[in-house]
Amino acid sequence: MTLAALFRERQTRNRIIFAALILLLPIVVYFQFFRKKPIPVGAERAVFCTKCKSMGAKIIVDIEDDKDQRNYCKICGGRLRYAAKCLKCKYEFPLPAADSAPPGDAKHTMDKFRFLRDRELCPNCRQEPPDTAIMTPDQIEKKADL
Ligand SMILES: [Zn+2]
Ligand SMILES: [Zn+2]
Repeated sequence: MTLAALFRERQTRNRIIFAALILLLPIVVYFQFFRKKPIPVGAERAVFCTKCKSMGAKIIVDIEDDKDQRNYCKICGGRLRYAAKCLKCKYEFPLPAADSAPPGDAKHTMDKFRFLRDRELCPNCRQEPPDTAIMTPDQIEKKADL
């Protein structure tokens, strides 16, 4: 084998390694920075009472389940929702802020998209997600026993 042939081979190999690294980089960055940590089942979530505006930490199984008594406030019996915070104006609110029915017709994708976006808008300054984020229990300053 000549030296030139070896060089060519090495160059090819380097190119393959380089290409592989280029492909891998976005995946690594994604997992490192953008992937949200999955919330373990049975973990406490930050909740907001839509009636008495108390906030607390509670184990939530399914926040959408109207029959689950854990989704109701122990103080006033109001419906609990996940607590969200606007990163722009620091306003804290239940998510969704108001109970509105989703658009019935699934054909109107834009309506659905708008509905999902609107229910996460900051009720105070109308900031859109992702600047309105669901809070974690340690972000609550005054925890009530909900
Ligand atoms: Zn309440
Ligand atoms: Zn806001």
